[in-house]
Amino acid sequence: MFYCSLCENETCYISKFCSKCRKIKHYLNLYNERVYEVLDNVLSRDIDKQNNKIQVEIKDEIKNKEEKIEVYKVPQLRSMSKK
Ligand SMILES: [Zn+2]
Repeated sequence: MFYCSLCENETCYISKFCSKCRKIKHYLNLYNERVYEVLDNVLSRDIDKQNNKIQVEIKDEIKNKEEKIEVYKVPQLRSMSKK
């Protein structure tokens, strides 16, 4: 039996990594040091604090998207009110 070189749980016959670990490898190729920073910052906390950290990290992103949605909605509402 051959096992994934990273998780050492999944069986792998052709590749070195299982599909989930292949994804991690892609993240490493793309973001390099950032992957280690995120893992250290997020996974070193307990589950509640991890969720809080994730919420804080994505809060700005969510706010930006909501603002974009609002900007898009306003012209549509204006045109509807004219009718
Ligand atoms: Zn694996």
